[in-house]
Amino acid sequence: MAKAVPVRLCLGCHEPKAKNEMLRIVRTGDGNVLIDLKGKVSGRGAYICKTKACFEKALKSKALVRSLGVSIPSDVIDSIKQFFDGSENG
Ligand SMILES: [Zn+2]
Repeated sequence: MAKAVPVRLCLGCHEPKAKNEMLRIVRTGDGNVLIDLKGKVSGRGAYICKTKACFEKALKSKALVRSLGVSIPSDVIDSIKQFFDGSENG
């Protein structure tokens, strides 16, 4: 039997997606917020689809903040936006 792929709900569109197709945003133990591109950072994670639209929805609805339990520093928001801009252009 094939292994079940772990599924997470997107905070933007609320659709379940395979974890490995999503962007994980982590609040680390020391309270930093960062993008976890490799899925290896330990901490409290939030998942969104790898689309800018879902990120902006999750941000606007405060779902991301609620899920992480901290506000997201603007430089982190910028770097996430850059991540999407880069992947859309490339
Ligand atoms: Zn989504």
